[in-house]
Amino acid sequence: MQTIRHPLISPAPGTQRELVSLHYGQSGAQKAYIQASLHGDELPGMLVAHHLRQQLGALEAAGQITGEIVLVPMANPIGLSQFMLHAHLGRFELMSGENFNRHYPDQVDAVAHAVASQLGADAAANVALLRRALKAAVLASPADTELQSQRRALLALSCDADIVLDLHCDAQALMHLYTETPCWPACEPLARFLGSRLTLLAQDSGDNPFDEACSQVWWKWDRHFGGRFPIPQACLSVTVELRGACDVTHELASADAKNIVDFLRWRGLIAGDKPALPDAVGDARPLAGSMPIKSPVPGVLTFLKDVGAEVKAGDVLAHVIDPITAAVTELTSPVDGLFFARDFLRFANAGMRVAKVAGREALRTGKLLGA
Ligand SMILES: [Zn+2]
Repeated sequence: MQTIRHPLISPAPGTQRELVSLHYGQSGAQKAYIQASLHGDELPGMLVAHHLRQQLGALEAAGQITGEIVLVPMANPIGLSQFMLHAHLGRFELMSGENFNRHYPDQVDAVAHAVASQLGADAAANVALLRRALKAAVLASPADTELQSQRRALLALSCDADIVLDLHCDAQALMHLYTETPCWPACEPLARFLGSRLTLLAQDSGDNPFDEACSQVWWKWDRHFGGRFPIPQACLSVTVELRGACDVTHELASADAKNIVDFLRWRGLIAGDKPALPDAVGDARPLAGSMPIKSPVPGVLTFLKDVGAEVKAGDVLAHVIDPITAAVTELTSPVDGLFFARDFLRFANAGMRVAKVAGREALRTGKLLGA
């Protein structure tokens, strides 16, 4: 295992943060890239990375890693260090207010123009050419701030990978995945290995989150060249929501790490007998059908349903109680679907989104991700 340090732009004299990447196997075969806790206060992925490191170390010692595996066990040193009044604030940079998982730079057109004259009839050669050009474009992209240099370093490590896993979590939730629709055929086996009940599909959901920055280049290049050259969807990129923020246990993390290793073995990055594909325990649904449950009034929030419940339109999911008037407001599901995530706060502001139900119909339009 090789350790590489990636210094970020220093925001102030005497201050220097860095990303650390751990490299297993060798380049030339398939590449997997796995990062944890891009939202600095989402810790389940960091514990999974800890267990992955031990499992990958043992596999490497046994000479079993046949692909290239890059692990960034802590993807956001800026967000990890942000505390205010004893609360950990790792989702938005305090300097800019920007979400750490948005605004990854788009290199689609620049790379398309750079390689247009060199593409041909060989799909594998096109993939290799596009990956080299993409990595060069990412490394050459401007970065003025510490946050921009963090985004650039993460994208440079991941943009040429076959498999990208971005380990996040929700507040209180089932294991679920986000991926772009063209990635679903390659993601379906991953969902089985991880035991995911739900994969939310979208294409270009808005504001360029990290996973889409890695996957969207392929279908956008294919569209750009209008089928004149074979350009496959060469990157499976997935945001893995490792349940809720407090689901940080060795039992869950070691099992999740083993399931990731099994998937990588199934995909051929690790030697040994290919594990059997587990039965599916869930399905894929449109991200545009994931319905936010908003509270129209402020008050004490108490849930009547646990995550994992299959609910019907009109089912009461929660009560919001005004402590002064004793008024009880029912929050109901707008659709039939899977109640898969809810907030961990128990006070709702007026208009606050407090839960999510995944239906089967795409009902929303516009930007599909929350803040
Ligand atoms: Zn997150």
